[in-house]
Order: sequence, then structure tokens, then C-alpha cells
Amino acid sequence: MRYKNISDCHSHSNCSFDGTRNMRDMCMNAIEMGLVYYAVTDHCECNQYMNVPHIPGGRYYDVVRQSYAELLQNQERFPNLKLLRGIELGQPLQDLNAAHDALTGRDYDVVIGSLHNIRDHDDFYHIGEHNPTEQEIDNALHAYFAESLEMVEWGKFDTLAHITYPLRYMCKAGETPSYKPYQDELDAVLKALIKSDIALEFNTSRILRTDAPKLPDREVYSRYKELGGKLVTIGADAHRTENIASGVEEAMELLSDIGYKEYTVFVERKPVQVPIE
Ligand SMILES: [Zn+2]
Ligand SMILES: [Zn+2]
Repeated sequence: MRYKNISDCHSHSNCSFDGTRNMRDMCMNAIEMGLVYYAVTDHCECNQYMNVPHIPGGRYYDVVRQSYAELLQNQERFPNLKLLRGIELGQPLQDLNAAHDALTGRDYDVVIGSLHNIRDHDDFYHIGEHNPTEQEIDNALHAYFAESLEMVEWGKFDTLAHITYPLRYMCKAGETPSYKPYQDELDAVLKALIKSDIALEFNTSRILRTDAPKLPDREVYSRYKELGGKLVTIGADAHRTENIASGVEEAMELLSDIGYKEYTVFVERKPVQVPIE
């Protein structure tokens, strides 16, 4: 480890349909790695709240309750780990009642806002499987920025997840996509974040992968800084123990190179700045 203050503020236990390990194992790995803060942020896809397509009979309604109960258990089990109680709230605008239910009655440290699919469309993950044309990609990105902006204006979350998510799947390995053609739309989202004191996440899940497109991280985080943005959370989006904090040091290095001295974590939904060192 090159840095001493390493945290990971985005990860999934097997409460998430795509998580592979139980929360206890995830926490044990985080302790072994000496993380300063560690957040488990299981999925809650608001647009599928009462019907998880991947799990017969599954409901995110139950997942959020199960995951939160396990967060409390593991906080008790590992008193020396700064385990943050998190949730990844997907597509909140597509079912506001679900979003409200998910956030009511539980004291989260950090609520991650995500957009995995635009309204009436498949997850970008699946769009990518159909070899989209340039026109389809362009249309999807315009819609993505529009709905992201709406989400930030709604604002009931602490950090906006993986802003380059569509590019992961709609572009191919070896490509180096850019958000330059969407500068105005990107700027509108970044400015809205800054105005609302919502952080911008640096999702590191692709940073070390050679079988993925090269995401325009430097471009996005430099622009955010230029516009006055100060709150960047870092998360590896691990779905298995071995990916915890993967790429976090590379993100810290890039942020430091751009001029950031600190990154952000949320504790009881308030930003805490941690020195990049
Ligand atoms: Zn996500
Ligand atoms: Zn995630």
C-alpha cells in the first residue's frame, strides 16, 4: 500500500443479487487491508422494488431491511472497523415511493445515488450486449445526462455513483471514450452537484481492468475541480472480497495529481474530508 488513508465507500455483500460473499467476510477483508472507512452499500433498484428480476420472489423491499440488519450486526461484531451503513439507491426517480420507503426508518451513513438504466430502457449493461450504433449511444447519453441532472435536483442522496457507467458497457475494451461532445450536459450535472453539496463518486472498478474501455476519469474529475467541486468519494464497487479497495490507490494518485488534497467519506450523512496521504 502506497497510501495510509485508504477507504472504500462502495461495495456489495451477498444481500445484493450480484454480490458473492457475506458481509462478515467482506468486513474481515476490509480489516485485513487496514481500511480507514469501509462502506457496504447493497443495491436497491427502485424501479424493481417489489420484484427483483434475478431472484424469484425477491423484493428490494426485503433486501434493504436484510442488508441494514446485517450492517448493524457487523458494526457490533467489528467495533474497531469504521463500517459505514450504506445503500446504493438505483433509479430513485423511477419510483419515488420505493425511494422514500428505502430511506425511511434506517439511519444510513451514506446514500449512493445511481442510474443504471434510463427510464423505459434496459440497464446499460444489457444495451452493451446488443452492439449499439453510434446514434443509439448518443441518444442514450443525452437521456442519461438529463435523468442524472433530474436526480441531482431531487437530491436525497449523498454521492452520485459512477458517472461514466454507460461508457463501461456501450464502448469496447481498448477504446478511450470522452465526454467532450457532452460537455454542457456534464457541466450541468457537476454544477448541480456542487450547488447541492452532493459528492461525485470516483468508481474504481474499471481502473485496473484491461478488458474494459479506458474511462475518462481525469477529464471528469479535473472538470469537476475546475468548477469548484471539492467532494469526491472513492469506491471500488467490489462484489467479492478480493476486489475491496481495488483501484482506490490509483484513484487517489490521479486525484492528487489533479490537485486534490482530500477525498470525502460520509458519516451519518455528513461529509468528512480525509487527507490523501
Ligand atoms: Zn452501481
Ligand atoms: Zn454498486
